[in-house]
Amino acid sequence: MILEKIESLLAEIKTLTASNAEEAEALRLKYLSKKGEINALMADFRSVPAEQKKEVGIKINELKQTAMERINALREQCETAETQDEGIDLTRSAYPIDLGTRHPLTIVKNEIIDIFSRMGFILADGPEVEDDLHVFTKMNFAADHPARDMQDTFFVEQNAEDVTKNIVLRSHTSSVQARYMETSQPPIRIISPGRVYRNEAITARAHCFFHQVEGLYIDKDVSFTDLKQVLLSFAREMFGADTKIRLRPSYFPFTEPSAEMDISCHICGGKGCGFCKHTGWVEILGCGMVDPNVLEQCGIDSKVYSGYAFGMGVERITNLKYQVSDLRMFSENDTRFLEEFTSAN
Ligand SMILES: [Zn+2]
Repeated sequence: MILEKIESLLAEIKTLTASNAEEAEALRLKYLSKKGEINALMADFRSVPAEQKKEVGIKINELKQTAMERINALREQCETAETQDEGIDLTRSAYPIDLGTRHPLTIVKNEIIDIFSRMGFILADGPEVEDDLHVFTKMNFAADHPARDMQDTFFVEQNAEDVTKNIVLRSHTSSVQARYMETSQPPIRIISPGRVYRNEAITARAHCFFHQVEGLYIDKDVSFTDLKQVLLSFAREMFGADTKIRLRPSYFPFTEPSAEMDISCHICGGKGCGFCKHTGWVEILGCGMVDPNVLEQCGIDSKVYSGYAFGMGVERITNLKYQVSDLRMFSENDTRFLEEFTSAN
């Protein structure tokens, strides 16, 4: 009796089919689960005479083994078929493509360029690996100026006979101005954005490279008033219409007179806060009237023409705009930081 049941179940199992994973699972439940047909045989097994128990036991085990193999094979078949189907499912939506974001420094640099472009400044570019002549000599740096020291500037090549032939990584983009003046006569109205290098230890507040935008305006009868008005317009466009500026006397080799420009702290509105060190003002750029020596060095008649120049750090402006507290974050390439600027531009 029990042997007949085993035989008929075995025949049944050998012809099982399933067209999907659910059907295969249903078969597993029907034959192999606790309440399945094979387990049900165990009730009959108890009444099998002792001398037949061994033979029947072996048959039940064989049946169980066959059922497991058959059902597993059916399940695998269904899963493979379903995966293949997915591959050609034309109704599936596409994988989302991760769009990149503009780097915060690029966002701010573009904004600076945009503001000055509207005031008639055009872009000028030049090499990052430069000779001393354009970085220092033509910019009126004294022979013993500390910027010419290896402590401050990265030297690529030194020339024992002629210091003006030393090759350095430019420490400012003023070298672009020198190159532009060599080949153009006024009126000149340029801005030169670019990367510059200084021999500094890398900290939250200093880095061995950063980005500048410098501006140069040369024409007849250019005065300090023109400079101040252009910078005021820039500050208001960049930081808001109620921004105030102040100019403090300073010194640069290439301008005379020279000034540092502060803007009213836009975080506390000039009342004083931790960000502006409780002064109400934050420094944003250096500027001044181009030293006549620079004009002459670059082939422009300083008796006919005058002009102004200014230079700002893009990182500095970005910090003021977005309050980034650590300069190193700009070059660490951490996408969690960069993604913060997705909606900025
Ligand atoms: Zn403040």
